Amino acid sequence: MRQRKVRNLEEKYKAYEDLLVYEPAEMRGSWRKLAGERGGCASLYLEIGCGKGRFISEMAESKPECFFVGVEGNRSVMLRAMEKVREKELRNVVFIPDFIVDLTDWFTAGEADGIYLNFSDPLPKNYSAKKRLTHRSKLKQYFRVLRPDGVVTFKTDNTGLFNFTLREIYASDLAILEMTRDLHHCEYSEGNIMTEYEAKFSTLGENIKRVVIGRKERISNMGNEFAAYNGRVIPAEDKIFGISGRAKKAIAEKGRENVINATIGALLDDEGNLIVLSSVDAAVKALRPAEYAEYAPIAGTPGFRSAIQKAAFGDYTPNGYVGVVASPGGTGSLRNAIANYTCPGDKILTHDWHWTTYKNIAMEQFRDEETFDMFDDSGSFNLADFEYKVKKLLRIQDRLLIILNTPANNPTGYSLSDEDWDGVVRILNSMPEEKKIALVVDVAYIDFAGDEKKVRSFLPKLEDLNENILPMLAYSASKTFTFYGCRCAATICIAKSEAVRDEFVRVMSFSARASWSNCPRGPQTVIDRIYSDPALLAKVDEERKGFRNFLLQRGRAFEEEAAKVGLRMVPFRAGFFCSVPCEDPDAVSKKLEEMDAFVVPFTKGVRVSVASISEAKCRKLPAMIKAALDAE
Ligand code: PLP
Repeated sequence: MRQRKVRNLEEKYKAYEDLLVYEPAEMRGSWRKLAGERGGCASLYLEIGCGKGRFISEMAESKPECFFVGVEGNRSVMLRAMEKVREKELRNVVFIPDFIVDLTDWFTAGEADGIYLNFSDPLPKNYSAKKRLTHRSKLKQYFRVLRPDGVVTFKTDNTGLFNFTLREIYASDLAILEMTRDLHHCEYSEGNIMTEYEAKFSTLGENIKRVVIGRKERISNMGNEFAAYNGRVIPAEDKIFGISGRAKKAIAEKGRENVINATIGALLDDEGNLIVLSSVDAAVKALRPAEYAEYAPIAGTPGFRSAIQKAAFGDYTPNGYVGVVASPGGTGSLRNAIANYTCPGDKILTHDWHWTTYKNIAMEQFRDEETFDMFDDSGSFNLADFEYKVKKLLRIQDRLLIILNTPANNPTGYSLSDEDWDGVVRILNSMPEEKKIALVVDVAYIDFAGDEKKVRSFLPKLEDLNENILPMLAYSASKTFTFYGCRCAATICIAKSEAVRDEFVRVMSFSARASWSNCPRGPQTVIDRIYSDPALLAKVDEERKGFRNFLLQRGRAFEEEAAKVGLRMVPFRAGFFCSVPCEDPDAVSKKLEEMDAFVVPFTKGVRVSVASISEAKCRKLPAMIKAALDAE
């Protein structure tokens, strides 16, 4: 939008001499001194392209302890900004009436605390990319003049510029501290100060995108040795492995009977030994060398692909086009579903109680995550929030990948009921048909969730989904066949057309080839053998059923004791885990560590692996958690 030139501009500028810095290079190194003298301020912020000054004047008004420097090359526009500052009688703002060429000409290293870029010119032509204010060369300058913990906050309504900026952040090896594609309807909306442009365009229904950029050291204590972090958050240690490492150390020092290690996502016997189905063990030991040593086809051996379908579907015969592609664990399945059914910068959607690896898989591939509240106040599956978040994301994305981890959700043990599923199908079918939705049901714990038939009753409902929705199962052999370390699973789609199914097999195979190539042949041969031999299958099923009941007994024991001591749990049905909601899960987990009880803190509570502790410990732990909560 072209701004009309103000007449007698120079004359008018004279009235604002005290707000103007005409020679910013001369101020290099002295800005903080000016901030102290003028406003008694200890921190310094810049807005590059401050326009008519609504943002900078309101920021300065709300933060009198901070000093602001507005930079604007369009002097007519900047006059409006100075008028606002004068009107508010602010002492903590000055303006540079110029375009930036190299910010390091005006500021010394580490001189500024933060930089705001609001609705910068998108300069859409490719040849203008280098001039964009978020081009990597500019980001480099900004971080030269910022203090070590300084951040750049960038807001725009322009999707092209936003996506470009994300790529530039990755290329600059900087970190994304916060990101949203709908600022006005997200957790960061509170306290947001709008620019004139933002106020106008958001009332027209435009989504405002915002990203806060920092040095990667802010989010990782790994330092900057050699690796390219590409905007990813890589913690010093995996949280779960870290806690379970400390638990193992405590066991070595104090004895197994004195320590509760409820961190492990594997089924252990009462003495802490891994339970392996003996029928599966025998089948593994019977493998001939070529049956495990030879490469398997990328999508899996034909026998495995047919067998894993039977394992996943049970008695159900889908009315659709089924595609199967092998993956090393359900993890691989989720990775490649995200790679092929979302775009970089997209958000995937899942429930707030979820396996934390989802976020890492998304982030690893330059996607982000949004969550919906899994439960409402009455403890029911929160279809209203599911609908709200699906709608919200589809307003800003053309495609959406949703992960539902059911039955026997990790970390809560919840399974969606048939009514919950009817709601999910109804909501997804009400979405615009031009939007593409991939619905990934992570069924990692399905065979430990209850009666085989009942837990699969949701499968026929997937056939009712509209054509623009592609249902997939991430079916893992890790738990079902106690194949955790053998890395064996498959992604299974039920498509409405042959073309979509064939494409699924092609793209998922391509991603497999490009990431791990083929999956181990040995476990595929074993699963093929189990499903080709009814007697062996019956034995495997029978053995698993025994362990499932034994696991359920532990879960019920925990539930019973929790009720006795008045410990609130997240709705639990079955599976490896149950969860206890709390305000500060890290603190509760720490407190429990002091009592030699180890659980995993999630965002909204602590997770207890009933799969890895004896029934006696399941009975003991609720009172300890209650004590840790009461000590908060
Ligand atoms: N999904 C959930 C919810 C999980 O908890 C796990 C493993 O712990 C997986 C998927 C994938 O496991 P794997 O890659 O071993 O199949």
